[in-house]
Amino acid sequence: MKSKALLIEDKKKLSYRSIDVPEVGDYEVLFHTQAVSLCTVDRRTYLGTRKHPFPFLGGHECSGIIEKVGRGVVEVQPGDHAIFTSAYCMQCQLDREGKGTQCKNKQKMPQRANLHGGMIMGGGLSEYIVIPAWQIIKIPFDLDFNAAALTEPLACTVHSIKKANIQFGETVVIIGLGIMGYFHLKLSLMRGARVIVSEKDKKRQERAHEQGAWMVIDPTKQNLVEKVRSMTNGLGADVVINTIPSQGVWQDAIDVLSPYGRLIAYSSQDAKDKIGIDFGMIHSKEIQIIGTLNPTLTDNEEAVKMIAYGLIDMTPVIDASYPFDQGIEAFQKAIAPGMYRVVIRY
Ligand SMILES: [Zn+2]
Repeated sequence: MKSKALLIEDKKKLSYRSIDVPEVGDYEVLFHTQAVSLCTVDRRTYLGTRKHPFPFLGGHECSGIIEKVGRGVVEVQPGDHAIFTSAYCMQCQLDREGKGTQCKNKQKMPQRANLHGGMIMGGGLSEYIVIPAWQIIKIPFDLDFNAAALTEPLACTVHSIKKANIQFGETVVIIGLGIMGYFHLKLSLMRGARVIVSEKDKKRQERAHEQGAWMVIDPTKQNLVEKVRSMTNGLGADVVINTIPSQGVWQDAIDVLSPYGRLIAYSSQDAKDKIGIDFGMIHSKEIQIIGTLNPTLTDNEEAVKMIAYGLIDMTPVIDASYPFDQGIEAFQKAIAPGMYRVVIRY
C-alpha cells in the first residue's frame, strides 16, 4: 500500500512523497500515525549538522492508531491507540537482559516503510508504517495524542533517573533546561531531591522556578561549583545530570560533585572534543561517571503510565502543533532557537 510521507530530501530540503508500506506480516501491525514530535535528530538531519543518508524519513516520537494486525499479534487489535518504541529486535542477549538501549540488531530490523535512503528507528513522518508487535505499547483512548507522542523523550529521562539512583533529600544539579532538563527536573523532584538548575536563558530560568527548582543558577553570572558547595557543607552535589552537548560544561559537572557523587552523562558529546579526566580524583572521591542513552522497553512502559495518569505536565514542552500538510512550516518553527517540541498532527 501507499503512504504519504514527509521526507528530508537533502540539507534544508523537505518534500511530500508517496512511499510504499510493506504488507503486514506475522507478529506485525499497521500503524496509522496521528501525532509526531520533531526531535533533535530530525532537526539536526534537516539542518545538515548530523550526517545521515538522504532522503531521510524521521519521526520517532510518535503516537497513532492500530489499523491492522498480523497473525500472532495478541495484545493489540485494530482501533487501539498506541505509541511505538525503538527498533528492539528482542532476539539478542542485551534486549532479553533488559539492556535493549544497546540492542545489536536495530539496523538489521526490517524497514517500517520501503525507502531507499535513511531511516533509523523512526518512520513517524509517514502516514502509515509497519511495526513488530513487541515495539508497540497501548495507550488509553482518552489520552491526548500530542502528549503520548512525547513518550520516548520522557522514557529517555526515566532511564537516566533510574541510573542516577537518587535518594530522598539529595541535591541534584541539572545542567540545561531544555525538554530533557525539564523531564529530569520533574522526575528528580518525584524522587525527593532538592534540584538546582544551571541555565543561562532567562525564559528557561523562569520555567525552572515555576516547575519546582530549589534554585536556578545563571552560569554566565555565578560560579556553579562555589554556589553548590556553599549550600552543601562544602561537599558538592550528590548527582549532576548534564543535558548540554557542550565541551565546556563537563569540567564543572565533575568539580561540583560531592564524594560518592554520580555524574550522569546524558547529553551526546562530539568524539573529537576529548575531555581530560583526573582518575586519581575519581578514585579518591569515589565518584561514579554513568552514561545513559535511550530507553528500554520497561522505561517506555513506565513513561506511558506517567503520561496517562497525568503525573508529568506535558503542556510546557509542546510549543506548537501543525497539521501534516503544513509539515514544512512545522520544521521551520522547530528549528527556531529555544523551542522544546513542535508536533505534527495527521
Ligand atoms: Zn536486540
